[in-house]
Amino acid sequence: MRRKLVAGNWKMNGSLAANTQLLTEIKSELGRAGASCDVAVCVPAPYLAQCQSLLFNTPVALGAQDVSTHEAGAYTGEVSTGMLSEFACRYVIVGHSERRAYFAESDELVAQKTARALIAGLTPIVCVGETLAQREAGQTDAVVGAQLNAVLSSIAASDLAKIVVAYEPVWAIGTGKTATPEMAQEVHAMLRKQLRAKNAVAAEEVRILYGGSMKPENAKELLAMSDIDGGLIGGAALKAVDFLAIIRAA
Ligand code: PEP
Repeated sequence: MRRKLVAGNWKMNGSLAANTQLLTEIKSELGRAGASCDVAVCVPAPYLAQCQSLLFNTPVALGAQDVSTHEAGAYTGEVSTGMLSEFACRYVIVGHSERRAYFAESDELVAQKTARALIAGLTPIVCVGETLAQREAGQTDAVVGAQLNAVLSSIAASDLAKIVVAYEPVWAIGTGKTATPEMAQEVHAMLRKQLRAKNAVAAEEVRILYGGSMKPENAKELLAMSDIDGGLIGGAALKAVDFLAIIRAA
């Protein structure tokens, strides 16, 4: 049985004051009621130190939103896996569709970032997803399959259980449009099949999250599907009451 994971992706949002308020509310509720799933927040890099200290000794794990493929050196603006580890990051998102679209990240680069995260002992949350045009052209399986395939080609079969996959249809991110549970399940099942071809045993352990306008109103139905093992949450992760409701639904 896979333990569900609910991970917030704060994107380029937050401030010292807002982060304190948000995490204080989340911590106090989880301290009181506990959580029956794993919980993480992936925060902007400048807030890692603040969030590390706010989350110390709590059930909420810390994550980052991106990482360099390089270990160290003359790569202005980049953040290394070693730096993330120093701030007790457990997770790092790689290949978010916003990075693929706005920063031209290729499947190969995302694969390299995944491999680099694994070397450092971080858990990569590997994002895949199709655009609306690709879905309408019937290319969903081919696009998402190729994105995952690039990652699978760059990691050892013995490392498969160490990754998390997030299926995030691009047309559902930040738009209020959500894939129906059946639509999402169909893609998740396809991804699981692909994982099985790499390592049949480990594939059953890999958590495949759904992301794309998940909110309290639709979380329960989505999370009830057999291959949906949690959520990657954007907008709703910025409101404690919504994020907590999704955690409860999981
Ligand atoms: C995301 O950016 O990963 C995401 C799922 O965003 P939202 O929940 O706002 O659609």
